[in-house]
Amino acid sequence: MIIFTKTIYMKILFPIIFTSAILGSICFSFKLAGEKKVLSTDNDSIVFSKIYSEGYNSWAAYIALEGLCKKAPKRLAGSAGAQVAVEYMEQVMRDCQFDKVWLQPVMVPHWERGPHEIGYVIDINGGKKHEVNVAALGGSIGTGENGLTAEVIEVTNFDELEKLGKKSIEGKIVFFNHRWDDKKIATFSAYGETVAYRWQGPTSAKKYGAVGCIIRSCTSSIDTFPHTGVTRTDSIGATIPSVAIATKDADFLSQLLKKSEKSVTFYLNMKCKWFADVKSYNVIGEIRGSEHPNEIIVVGGHLDAWELGEGAHDDGTGVTGSVEAIRIFKALGIRPKHTIRCVCFMNEENGGRGGKTYADSASLKKEKHIAAIESDAGGFTPRGFGLDMKPDQKIKVQSWEKLFLPYGVHDFTHGGGGADIGPLKAFGTPLLGLEPDGSRYFDYHHTEDDVFKNVNRRELQAGAASMAAMIYLIDKYGL
Ligand SMILES: [Zn+2]
Repeated sequence: MIIFTKTIYMKILFPIIFTSAILGSICFSFKLAGEKKVLSTDNDSIVFSKIYSEGYNSWAAYIALEGLCKKAPKRLAGSAGAQVAVEYMEQVMRDCQFDKVWLQPVMVPHWERGPHEIGYVIDINGGKKHEVNVAALGGSIGTGENGLTAEVIEVTNFDELEKLGKKSIEGKIVFFNHRWDDKKIATFSAYGETVAYRWQGPTSAKKYGAVGCIIRSCTSSIDTFPHTGVTRTDSIGATIPSVAIATKDADFLSQLLKKSEKSVTFYLNMKCKWFADVKSYNVIGEIRGSEHPNEIIVVGGHLDAWELGEGAHDDGTGVTGSVEAIRIFKALGIRPKHTIRCVCFMNEENGGRGGKTYADSASLKKEKHIAAIESDAGGFTPRGFGLDMKPDQKIKVQSWEKLFLPYGVHDFTHGGGGADIGPLKAFGTPLLGLEPDGSRYFDYHHTEDDVFKNVNRRELQAGAASMAAMIYLIDKYGL
């Protein structure tokens, strides 16, 4: 039995595979693909059990993720690390014996954080410096050699900022202390509320004459990790020096401001800088459809990542899980009717140019995309898919729910596909977003703690299997 052989193979040879992965051989288990028989697709629940068994038994996505995180941990678009990541994922796809692998050029913005940022509170009462964990927001300007020293003023929302107005704000550092709403069950909806301050806080504060901006990190966790992320740049292409601070530090600063009778002064020193746009790439691979090779199902995630950690959950799991979804097809000998294409999009975090370039090129070449699936919500236990499509298509996807239920995938009620596949919507492509459990994602999101060791192999593999299962149904029944 092939599965028995594979189990033994994984148990006995895994240490060798693991070591060889570290040494650079990435998708070792792919070499088995050619030995598989073609799987009958008469019975969907049997195919589902094969897909999930293959996914759960596999280490391929996990090993590929480790390689990506260790070889290219700092891979913000435009950086040297991003180029390493491009070459690495291209090789992963080649090792996986896709029918075709290629690089699609994308011009990307180039912003660099520079050396470790410094931030501290100057407590006038005690004359002491309180170190604060800060991280520049993506796109922020630097402070200059001497840093920035200014009085801090706290607001919890945009209304308070407006009420204070220019007379109270001018010359100060605005501190947006907007707390995460833990009453919200869906963490992405709580994130959506807080991220408004990261995105618009600095430009809003600048309008009233602020010289700097501090944002409470967008997380429900109370810890010492600042969470970076992109902030809006105004028409001049620059903001004011802007940082996220860890939630523990935000609470400390807020309490200090409340109890202090004198003004509280903050010092920031950051060397972040903008450079000219750089040529980078989307990494693309596909297996050709047997009946409709010109009709494409896309699955992908983003290859770039914020450079504080290793971009493991955001979005290393998305790109390696997407490759794994196709690997599962090959390993089981399922020959799809339509072409299945995996895209590792570049520059989701601070520009979205990879997604736009891909959609523009698809439109120019008149490629027909019958569905697009994105994984960009962490490599956690899969719970469902967000659906952004016509009502009748939604009903069709929801009718497949019973096939997914044995694997804990049950939620097909939310909207949303993802930022990288979003531009395909303009051409009528139905969009799906893999929805994993969201409880822990924002503990790691955009921090130095988003590292490989915080990804669970089974959870990552289950997400990849769920995407493979969804692709299988779309390929077989259409939308
Ligand atoms: Zn992401």
